This record gives sequence, structure tokens and C-alpha cells, in this order.
Amino acid sequence: MASHFTNYLKSTPGCPHKGWEWLGATDLHDDEGLEFGEYETCEFCGHEQIRYVHALRHCDWKEEIAVGRICANNLSGDPDIDITETRLRNRAQRRNNFPRLKSWKMSTRGNEWINYLGHHVVVICWSDGSFRLRIDGELGKLTFADVVAAKRRAFDVVIRRVEQTPRH
Ligand SMILES: [Zn+2]
Repeated sequence: MASHFTNYLKSTPGCPHKGWEWLGATDLHDDEGLEFGEYETCEFCGHEQIRYVHALRHCDWKEEIAVGRICANNLSGDPDIDITETRLRNRAQRRNNFPRLKSWKMSTRGNEWINYLGHHVVVICWSDGSFRLRIDGELGKLTFADVVAAKRRAFDVVIRRVEQTPRH
């Protein structure tokens, strides 16, 4: 008999309910503007709408699965699950606030700039009204329709550079 309902892993015979290995988490924020309901659904329970996707694997299951925090904790219990999701949430918050930080200054040429985490960011207003970024003296190729989008991209670039810098 055909069913209109998707069978989630929770009720799939043979799918383990314990002993999963946690592989890491990703923030789907890059898909800016996604509406609720367009995020991924937890593959295990089918309930959680997940922006922060946790990847798990199990030696008794053929493929990696993508689940929400609650299921990740139940299935794996790795303490890094909550720590990592909190870190991603904090970063999303900072990314949201970044365009409005008080430390943005206006240059004499009318471009906004900021020194953030040791990196120098300038949002250049182009002659056609679009915006481009200059980060650490290097002009980016992308153009942005509005200043907020440009600043958010700058945040991502700076965070990537900060995270790639080896710590002592
Ligand atoms: Zn779930």
C-alpha cells in the first residue's frame, strides 16, 4: 500500500537508535532569506526544522545522516554537539549585528570602513551605485546591491581568515 508520508529513519527497520558518531555541524545561514519550512528537516525524526545540521555516521548504517540537535544528542551524545551549535548560533548573531556596529567609520571619500578582529574592511560605493569590498587592501570581485549584504559578506570573509590563522 502506497503511503503519502515519508518514512523517517526513526521508524525505519534496522536503523540504529544509539552509537552514532558525530562528524560535525554546519550552519545553513548562507541561504540567506530562507523562509521557515525551507530549511532541512531532521532525517531521523522528521520534526525538527534545522538550520544547524549535524552529520552522523554509524558502522551499521549505509550512509551519513543529517539531523537536528535533539536527535544528534540522543543518537550520539557527543558533548561537542551543544558546544558547536552554541558557537554557530553566536556567530550567526554577530553576523546579524555586524552591519550595525558602532565601530563603522566614514572615510573622507564617503566609504564606510571598520577594523574587525585585526582585519581592515572598506565598503566601497561604486559609481553605478553598487558596493564592493576591499578587505586587507585587496579589492573583491563581487558587487552588492546594498551595503548590508556587502557587510555580511565581509563578516564571512574575516571569520574565515581568523579561523584559518593558526593559534599558538
Ligand atoms: Zn530529529
